[in-house]
Amino acid sequence: MRKLLHNIGKIWGMETSDKSFYAGVEMSKVQSLSNAWILIEDGKILDFGEGAIPESDEQIDIEGKELLPGFVDSHTHAVFATERSDEFVLRIKGAGYEEIAEAGGGILNSAQKLRDMPESLLLKKARENVKRLIAHGTTTLEIKSGYGLDLESELKMLRVIRQLKADFPITIKATFLGAHAVPLEFKGDRKGYVDFVIQTMLPAVIAESLADHIDVFCDRGFFSMDDTARILDAGAAAGLPGKIHANELGYTGGVQVAVEKMAWSADHLEYCGQEEIEALRGGVTMPVGLPGTSYFLGIPYAAGRNIIDAGLPFCLASDFNPGSSPLANLQMVWSLACSQMKLLPEEAFHAITLNAARALRLEKECGSISIGKRADFVISSLENSIRNIPYYFGQNHLYRLFIGGEEWNLNP
Ligand SMILES: [Zn+2]
Repeated sequence: MRKLLHNIGKIWGMETSDKSFYAGVEMSKVQSLSNAWILIEDGKILDFGEGAIPESDEQIDIEGKELLPGFVDSHTHAVFATERSDEFVLRIKGAGYEEIAEAGGGILNSAQKLRDMPESLLLKKARENVKRLIAHGTTTLEIKSGYGLDLESELKMLRVIRQLKADFPITIKATFLGAHAVPLEFKGDRKGYVDFVIQTMLPAVIAESLADHIDVFCDRGFFSMDDTARILDAGAAAGLPGKIHANELGYTGGVQVAVEKMAWSADHLEYCGQEEIEALRGGVTMPVGLPGTSYFLGIPYAAGRNIIDAGLPFCLASDFNPGSSPLANLQMVWSLACSQMKLLPEEAFHAITLNAARALRLEKECGSISIGKRADFVISSLENSIRNIPYYFGQNHLYRLFIGGEEWNLNP
């Protein structure tokens, strides 16, 4: 069965080389085709072009609208029990993120609520979150554990993610983040908790094949470089590549340990100076900025501009979570990266498509319009989408959405 999408006003983001990511000045160019078509077979792109259309079994008229690759969100915490809008108000009144965490709020607050919640209800809520992400154009999604912080609750979260993989047609990847915070039972004994993560939690996660990567919150007040190195080593020995939270709260060496341990990505980077940029150079670690978090917490933005100017690749993600970034919309992330990090719209586009796929090592499967990749397409309601999606910020510009070649109902 060959399905043809035709009468496409413009295709943005084709890539005919087998490029894995864009770096430096390459990020400022986006390829496009006008008056175009795409041929799909078995959920994948069979061919695409301009002008005269090829033969097909089914034709879908795109009505002259513009088409972009589905967005890739490489960093979320989309499984959680409840929102934390009470902390939002505390911060408005002047409390800091770390201060709230110290007082048992923050991640520990989420952990308490999640531990008490039955798996079935947690799954129901997570499904709503995933639908919200898809409704804004996300067709590839990473989700972390890390609100359980005890064995059963971490497994519960990861089982929910496994069920989400089965429930939705998008690509979902799971990350084990046992080392998100030190739980109350281990207060004052961080090393004891790291031992527990490595010796008890990790083997259980592996036994059920529940995770695709391992993560650590390497930062001031959370986990040290040494803790992080130990956990990444244990993960690697068990076959899990690293993707870490680094340098959100200070210059804590997270980037350096990520590069040294060949983590797939180092995420956050609100504190990323010349030393961190030098560390990233020559490594395999994708730097990932999370501007929704900076916006919501009122903290500095990652130095995406400096990172790209240094010739490096850069990726953006939502960090969708109930504490620091309740943002399920990568279009808004795109806009924040432009207005706040001074990325060009074209650079930020690559940062939520091919480079984001690279952060998950899925660049052969998604992130651009290329033959053989999944037929995941955002159909935009705007003209000149590459500029106008981030320009008309805070809105959802999806007109239609295709996942693996099948249309997703945006108005169920
Ligand atoms: Zn995060």
